[in-house]
Amino acid sequence: AQSWVMTKHFDGFPKKSDFGLKVEELPEPKDGEVLLEAEFLSVDPYMRSFSKTHMKEGDVMIGGQVAKVIQSRNPAFPVGSHVVSNSGWRTHTISDGTGLTPILPEWPKDVSLSLALGAIGMPGLTAVYGIEEVLGLQKGETLLVNAAAGAVGSVVGQIAKIKGCKVVGSAGTDAQVAYLRELGFDEVFNYKTVGSLEEALRKASPEGYDCFFENVGGSFSTVALQQMKNFGRIAVCGSISVYNDSTPQTGPYPHLTMILKQLKMEGFMQSRWEHKHPETLKRLLAWVKEGKLHYREHVTKGFENMPAAFMGMLQGENIGKAVVAV
Ligand code: NDP
Repeated sequence: AQSWVMTKHFDGFPKKSDFGLKVEELPEPKDGEVLLEAEFLSVDPYMRSFSKTHMKEGDVMIGGQVAKVIQSRNPAFPVGSHVVSNSGWRTHTISDGTGLTPILPEWPKDVSLSLALGAIGMPGLTAVYGIEEVLGLQKGETLLVNAAAGAVGSVVGQIAKIKGCKVVGSAGTDAQVAYLRELGFDEVFNYKTVGSLEEALRKASPEGYDCFFENVGGSFSTVALQQMKNFGRIAVCGSISVYNDSTPQTGPYPHLTMILKQLKMEGFMQSRWEHKHPETLKRLLAWVKEGKLHYREHVTKGFENMPAAFMGMLQGENIGKAVVAV
């Protein structure tokens, strides 16, 4: 079995030398246990932000994977079945079944199981809860989403279109922006080349924004907040622009604007609605089957390339969900 450990806490942007490959022999599964073999592994922004708070040097990198049960002494998980598991960056894992989510039985043969890490997985769930539980997005409203071509953002924009909203999205490469057009976003721009962000936001929606699905943080938020309508709602999903900062930022939000416009801003983690996951995953799968929810994946081949895939995602190499195929 192989695993990737964080040998050194990241200082700024992660470097190849911060990761180490570990090889070990696993024992045979005991009664009630299974042996899992990873087929697809996820690389996500939270691995960078949680590394500071949830990990110590020498720990295996955290993360989800789609794995096949290759040995089983647990009747709930027969050999050959697939599960989503929070095993971290490991090729093989012994599990007693706790926290394993079987792939939905109605999963279509022609849809890659890797989607259980993307549109029909944690990022898809995040999009649904941010829109429905936090923003309460209503038909006819205008929504702004940043990091829009990524795993979460691309689903956010499409669900908002399904709900009959106007969607404005920003992304960091022209290829990502072209993808957002393909997905049916109403207004899109490249935040790196647009010049004035303030003007781009005003041009995309001169009447302002009812809702803002916030993935980026930092100066983007400060500018975007000024463009909110009165009583606007902001779902604070992520803050990727500051995850690699060595010193924590303080106070990026203009509080006076929040008061004068009477904005509602709420941070959230998708795990708050864990009890709704089974039903929500079914809805996401149905949208995919019906052709209402489109997806792309950025697939890196080879377990040995996990660190490169992770660093590439943080730099915006991906369109759609970044995954690694073993
Ligand atoms: P993505 O697939 O969107 O990949 C990350 C993207 O972030 C890159 O493609 C990159 O694109 C963009 N990015 C990186 N640096 C910056 C920057 N400085 N400014 C703007 N964009 C940047 O990742 P996810 O969809 O998985 O995650 C999106 C956000 O959602 C993250 O903030 C993540 O932490 C958050 N999240 C929160 C969850 C929750 O429960 N609250 C659950 C899942 C995700 P480019 O640079 O080209 O724009």
